[in-house]
Amino acid sequence: MSDSLRDQYLIPSQPYYRAVHDEVTLYEAAYSVRMPVMLKGPTGCGKTRFVEYMAWKLQKPLITVACNEDMTASDLVGRFLLDANGTRWQDGPLTVAARIGAICYLDEVVEARQDTTVVIHPLTDHRRVLPLEKKGELVSAHPDFQIVISYNPGYQSLMKDLKQSTKQRFGALDFDYPKPEIEAEIIAHESGIGKDLADKLAQIAQRSRNLKGHGLDEGISTRLLVYAGQLVAKGIDAQAACRMALVRPLTDDPDMRDTLDAAINTYF
Ligand code: ADP
Repeated sequence: MSDSLRDQYLIPSQPYYRAVHDEVTLYEAAYSVRMPVMLKGPTGCGKTRFVEYMAWKLQKPLITVACNEDMTASDLVGRFLLDANGTRWQDGPLTVAARIGAICYLDEVVEARQDTTVVIHPLTDHRRVLPLEKKGELVSAHPDFQIVISYNPGYQSLMKDLKQSTKQRFGALDFDYPKPEIEAEIIAHESGIGKDLADKLAQIAQRSRNLKGHGLDEGISTRLLVYAGQLVAKGIDAQAACRMALVRPLTDDPDMRDTLDAAINTYF
């Protein structure tokens, strides 16, 4: 039972991941001592893809949880459910990961309330246990279990941040949008468009990132560049593809849209 559950979370084939620095080596060393890892960086820069790649490389199951502010500790740990025969306990994703020895990836963990985040504490120190208080069980984490969280430093505010007592349980890797040559390589691979076009998209993104803090909260992400490439690969005109995938999602401000559209028009 537990083996088939484990198999269900294995990554079946090699995900494409273009390493940018020494993150693969660092992560492998961290995993070998089961150090909890925090991936810091803006949205759409490759954090999720990196975890998928590492889980595949290490041949470990991966359980991903997208965190949000309505999430409770029970959503992570588990709860009693009512069914025809009475009550039945159902493990949450964190408990499943601890039992089967998965890498548990908590995406955008800062979105979760602090009282939710603290449930990971006993799993992230030498105890490596997860108390299921409602059930009266103490789960000892499987030796392969590891916890990984992602964190977007740009979104943090005084109201929303991880406590120091949470932060200081993790080793951290900085992620950012790769430099244009590498980003173009990623866009071309992911969308199937040619190098020339991919280069142009990467340069447009570069220009948008210079507007961060000057009217834009974030520049264009690698994810959006891949979307633009995919539209072009489907025969959409490059300007229209860029408007739909790069500009419209990013901002509602008419002046900023004009600025970005004008930048795109200089390339196509
Ligand atoms: P994040 O988790 O940081 O929000 P993702 O990992 O989902 O972002 O990345 C968004 C998309 O960008 C991926 O689906 C992939 O197509 C592409 N991508 C970004 N960086 C890389 C990379 N280094 N190697 C391969 N693909 C990447």
